[in-house]
Amino acid sequence: MGQVGSSASEHASRRKRDVSPSPYSLAVHGGAGTHPRTRMTDAMAHDYHTALKAVLSAGEAVLRDGGSALDAVTQAVCALEDDPLFNSGRGAVFTATGAQEMDAAVMDGTDRRAGAVAGVFGPRNPVRLARAVMERTEHVLLIGKGALDLAREAGLPFEEAEYFFTQSHWDALQETLALQARGEVDDDPWRRHGTVGAVARDREGRLAAATSTGGMTGKAPGRVGDTPVIGAGTFADNATCAVSATGHGEIFMRWCAAHEIDARMRLAAEPLWAAARHVVEVDLDQGANAGSGGLIAVDAAGNIAMPFNCEGMYRGHVHEGAAPETAIYR
Ligand code: ASP
Repeated sequence: MGQVGSSASEHASRRKRDVSPSPYSLAVHGGAGTHPRTRMTDAMAHDYHTALKAVLSAGEAVLRDGGSALDAVTQAVCALEDDPLFNSGRGAVFTATGAQEMDAAVMDGTDRRAGAVAGVFGPRNPVRLARAVMERTEHVLLIGKGALDLAREAGLPFEEAEYFFTQSHWDALQETLALQARGEVDDDPWRRHGTVGAVARDREGRLAAATSTGGMTGKAPGRVGDTPVIGAGTFADNATCAVSATGHGEIFMRWCAAHEIDARMRLAAEPLWAAARHVVEVDLDQGANAGSGGLIAVDAAGNIAMPFNCEGMYRGHVHEGAAPETAIYR
């Protein structure tokens, strides 16, 4: 018989317990929508590895200075949003009508506070707006004018449409629309999707997660994916894990993918790697509800899992005192 999970009260006390300083861990992803290996040149791969290392270094600087996991994931995701290589912020993909609608979320594992925005355009860093929702309102998810008003009230920087335009993502939309017009299925993961995210455990044992995306290329106007849905694409609880997902959002939402990992750890006492692999390789691989993608996750002890069920996922991680590592394919 399997080991019985600890009780809810034990978990609650673990969440609040003071933890003596111990090494930090950070993981980041730039999405499961990688260029197929056959199209990835050495120069392109070099650019991705360089970008991921810069992002890790931005997030790690916060943790090294004794900062919180929440600040580290916010910082890392801002760096990803600022890089047009990735589908979020500056490099967000286009909807079927040629607009850009961004989703983002952040969650603090210490008290399960969370903030998210959906369908926004204008704020340079949607993840900062998600954080403003968490810190400046009594709500979890804001959309539309209310979200943009909050961004202005919080003094967050806005950018014009030219800032967010990337030719490669515009071309991807034209290709997607042409495929759709011919009734063909788009099976190029890079053209279809991508997302960015970060999870961290700080020296105090606090966990946090942040995720940001332009969503899926050619999505219907108004479509919202898993990223800003707490428990689907983003989740954190100090007692178990912090998770940031990337992939076919509708399927991750149906599986409550990020929270399912927490549930398997909390209720079935599974270790992080087993819970994360089960969700990505078993749950997300079932018939009509099969969804390609992956996720990054960190547990209370700083262990990191980064499973994916597709060809690749831009990703990187660092443990305190060790060299950062980045990877694209298996
Ligand atoms: N999960 C994102 C969404 O569905 C897309 C992705 O990560 O590829 O909006």
